[in-house]
Amino acid sequence: MTAAGPAEASAPGRRPTALRAVRETGAVDLPAAEEAVVRLLRALGRDPSGPHLAETPRRVASAYAEMLTARQFDLTTFPNDEGYDELVIARDIPLQSLCEHHLLPFSGVAHIGYLPGARILGLSKLARVLELFARDLQVQERLTQQVADWLQEHLAPRGVGVVVEAEHLCMSLRGVRTPGARTVTSALHGVLRSDARSRAEFFALTGTT
Ligand SMILES: [Zn+2]
Repeated sequence: MTAAGPAEASAPGRRPTALRAVRETGAVDLPAAEEAVVRLLRALGRDPSGPHLAETPRRVASAYAEMLTARQFDLTTFPNDEGYDELVIARDIPLQSLCEHHLLPFSGVAHIGYLPGARILGLSKLARVLELFARDLQVQERLTQQVADWLQEHLAPRGVGVVVEAEHLCMSLRGVRTPGARTVTSALHGVLRSDARSRAEFFALTGTT
């Protein structure tokens, strides 16, 4: 994971600054992935040359390539001129990711909040930070922590809170088969971690108390 840009998000000054948010991962080799799906289908006792499955390897490879590729974006931040010092929360941000144990999707919502310091950011950017880490092979706990860590590092707020509620297809379709069961994870930094009242307010506002 790297981030580089023309200016640091936490840089002092009154101008908006932008930090290019990119994630460096291995490139997807589409032809090799298609070949692997052909072999997987054969290994599963299916005939990939039949008319119904002929296009499947190509579709599967491109679906996984899409699900594993995050769009880069500019994290634009603005000086907190009004001195706003209450929680800013984006609730119910849609989340889709892939479980690294089964390569099956997990999906749900994330609630992301922060207590502004010197700078604030556009609310839509919270969803983009989530996507940056969700489009990967993940476990929900790590995803939650990575989003909180990234915001703490690049926005330098007084506190950050992230709650993720997701249903894992690997739990609902197989194994223990618990359809509808949601896993909830959270990660907190700064005042939201150290101050019980701020923490309680955050969880109340996200509806996860
Ligand atoms: Zn799984």
